[in-house]
Amino acid sequence: MNKRIFLSFPHLGGNEMQYINEAFSESWVVPLGPNVDEFERRLEAYLSASNVVALSAGTAALHLGLVELGVTAGDEVLCQSFTFAASANPVKYQGANPVFVDSEPDTWNMSPDALERAIIDRKRVTGRYPKAIVVVHLYGMPAKMSEIMAIAARYNIPVLEDAAEALGSTYKGRKCGTIGNFGALSFNGNKIITTSGGGALICPNDEAERHVKFLATQAREPMPYYYHKEIGYNYRLSNISAGIGCGQMEHIAERVARRREIHALYAKGLASLPGITVHTEPTADAVSNFWLTTILLDDSLQFSPEDLRQALEAENIESRRLWRPMNMQPVYADAPFYGDGCAERLFNRGLCLPSGSILTDEEIARVVDCITKFYHSK
Ligand SMILES: *Cc1c(COP(=O)(O)O)cnc(C)c1O
Repeated sequence: MNKRIFLSFPHLGGNEMQYINEAFSESWVVPLGPNVDEFERRLEAYLSASNVVALSAGTAALHLGLVELGVTAGDEVLCQSFTFAASANPVKYQGANPVFVDSEPDTWNMSPDALERAIIDRKRVTGRYPKAIVVVHLYGMPAKMSEIMAIAARYNIPVLEDAAEALGSTYKGRKCGTIGNFGALSFNGNKIITTSGGGALICPNDEAERHVKFLATQAREPMPYYYHKEIGYNYRLSNISAGIGCGQMEHIAERVARRREIHALYAKGLASLPGITVHTEPTADAVSNFWLTTILLDDSLQFSPEDLRQALEAENIESRRLWRPMNMQPVYADAPFYGDGCAERLFNRGLCLPSGSILTDEEIARVVDCITKFYHSK
């Protein structure tokens, strides 16, 4: 059997253990510590941002972003429907309700038109504007942020960017996650960089940064005994995990460059197969990290994304269907939805290809070969 090709496998840089060993030698085997401070500093330098807080997960970052934006029970939050459930679930943690907004075909991200329609209609139905907007840069592709920020400003609704998949992507020269009011990153095992598990919240100012750190460490007031005036969380990143992050940040630029190279290899390798389209930036405003290279299969083809996924699996190649939109999830069956079915069409016709920065040119060629053979057998 051929060696297995994974979708997005962790890619270690080599120095991770050094940071962890330092933590051990100084007994910093705790949440917080010097690696956490250093990891935050490296993220800030890379993002050209000043207020990054390392947290235990991207989901925790999204949750604290909503808390900071004042989302509470009974509120509505506009959320991109085409995403992973972790973009929407924290809305429920707050006792609030998501209102799902469809994607547009250029970026596959939140449709500015559907967003504005949703805002106007929610005001009509509930008498109030939604409390926040969660926009996602899916698969690393930057959303249409100028249009979305303009609509958000028109109705005075803050924006939380879910940049979990988009570390290193830029929009008009700015790093994704630093454009909205808050931005969330993920360092889960399959993302651009890993801390084995972790995330970060990009905050707009020192005050928000201080408050997020306070909430993430159980909201302990500075008193000689445990004293609490707010509900806190245990959401800080451990000093051990942050050591992995410090080692990973030594190579972030190479990792992003390699994912982009892999996307280019697929674009070239699949160019001679009519009906297969590699998802690519619509304009020069957007530069994707191409966390995952994704393809769309035209309706005219004699096979479905699931057929292709199974053919790849038979060759020991892992691919994955696109995210199933939140408005098609049983758990969110009752949530309002605004759109024309764009994300549903993408879900039905798309596939994610192996894209980890650790993959070799030969491995990408094996995937292209397998797709090409399957294509011509149909
Ligand atoms: C991975 C991911 C998250 C959650 O991040 P975790 O670190 O796994 O909690 C949120 N949103 C999107 C779009 C993701 O891909």
